[in-house]
This record gives sequence, C-alpha cells and structure tokens, in this order.
Amino acid sequence: MEKELEFENSVKNILEYIGEDINREGLEKTPSRVRKAFEFMCSGYNKDPKEIINQALFTSSNDEMVVIKDIEFYSMCEHHILPIIGKAHIAYIPNGKVVGLSKIPRIVDVFARRLQIQEQMTEQICDALHETLNPKGVAVMIDARHMCMEMRGVEKICSTTVTSASVSYTHLTLPTKRIV
Ligand SMILES: [Zn+2]
Repeated sequence: MEKELEFENSVKNILEYIGEDINREGLEKTPSRVRKAFEFMCSGYNKDPKEIINQALFTSSNDEMVVIKDIEFYSMCEHHILPIIGKAHIAYIPNGKVVGLSKIPRIVDVFARRLQIQEQMTEQICDALHETLNPKGVAVMIDARHMCMEMRGVEKICSTTVTSASVSYTHLTLPTKRIV
C-alpha cells in the first residue's frame, strides 16, 4: 500500500512539473489509473516463460519449420518509457515436441511487458524458446515502431526497426554421407 501511494505521489509530481493543476476534476484519478496501467504494462517481470511452455508441450514427429508470424505486441523502451509497437515473427523446428500455439504470443508478452530495448527483447524470446522447447532451431524477428523516435527526438514516423536472433542446430551431429 505504501509503495502504491509512493507511485501515485510520483505521478502527481510529474503532473505538477509539466504545469498541470493536480486538483482539477479530470486529473483526480489519474495517478491511480497510471499506476494500474503500469502494473499491467510491466506485468512480464513476474512471469516465468518455462512455466508457460511446460504446461503445453505435445509429442510430435513433425520436424519441419513451424512459423507463427505477425504477433502484435506493445512494449516500452527503457530509455524514455515510451511505447514500442510492433510485430514478432517466430519460427522453430521441433525436436520431438511442439508447443501449443497460443503459448508463443504469451512468451512474446512476458518479455514485451517490461522496459525493453528491441535488440534485447528479440534475444530473450529466442533464448527462452531455445531453453524450454529444445528445438532443432529457432529464429525470432521483430519489426517495430519506437515512439521515442516518432513523438520526440529525430521524429521519423516512417522508419521501423528490424532485429533478429536465432539458434541453429549446427551443434548437433549431422549424419555422415556414405560415399561408395
Ligand atoms: Zn527510447
């Protein structure tokens, strides 16, 4: 409760700093609304990707690429606490197990709902899938808009940032070719 009040007082300080009248009607509940919004937007810190994946692993002999694309996400940059809005595209090659499809967007949200930089988030999703699924290969690509580049700073509204991360199965022993 004390922490919640501290957060709300900080919001009041910001409102005063920017020149607002914190006592006007429209702003009365703003500090508590902002706190609740932040609790939701940063709820990824308390979630464990392993727990999410492990409850939905299914045996499958499919060893072709599984692609889940256009997974929209909303994150916030750790430098300005401004939105990062984008899409994640994820591919993996199963290694005896597949994961329930809805779990992949959930994994994206675990890392999106934190303060982030896009490069790091891409790698974190890739590592989490690699560790929990143990696939033959996994690749993650993220295409996103950064409000700190659009609303302020360089003000470039048409640029998007693309990052990728992958783990391949090159470490596995490949069958040796027999030459007759
Ligand atoms: Zn930023």
